[in-house]
Amino acid sequence: MDMKIDGRCHCARITYEAEIDPEKVLICHCGDCQTLTGSTFRTVALTYEDTFKLLSGELKTYVKTGESGAKRQQSFCPECGTPIYSSTVGEGPKVHAIRVGTARQRDELVPKKQLWFRSAQHWVTDLGSVEKDRKAASS
Ligand SMILES: [Zn+2]
Ligand SMILES: [Zn+2]
Repeated sequence: MDMKIDGRCHCARITYEAEIDPEKVLICHCGDCQTLTGSTFRTVALTYEDTFKLLSGELKTYVKTGESGAKRQQSFCPECGTPIYSSTVGEGPKVHAIRVGTARQRDELVPKKQLWFRSAQHWVTDLGSVEKDRKAASS
């Protein structure tokens, strides 16, 4: 069930490839994800251990401490700021939570679960009723 993906940041300095489980694509509604994305929720794909390969560029990292005291390292492009993944802090093999919007295959990565739904903005379940602009290109 594994799937190869590849992606890049907006300025293309950072490029990567990884293997993910399409069943482990998640939405996180937690307050930290809202702040760190500057948006309403974050969508991530969990990698298999040690399959993430940085192909170009150098990531900048920021370690955030959650309300629970758990630390997670956030990795992003130092030039354009695109978030690439988060991972646990410390030694040992790592599962990265890749930011789905950076993957070339993002259209195929459909979320299977929503985390921290109690923190979700109240309108997210009602997006279908929000007026739509039909343009398709990226801004
Ligand atoms: Zn960049
Ligand atoms: Zn979160």
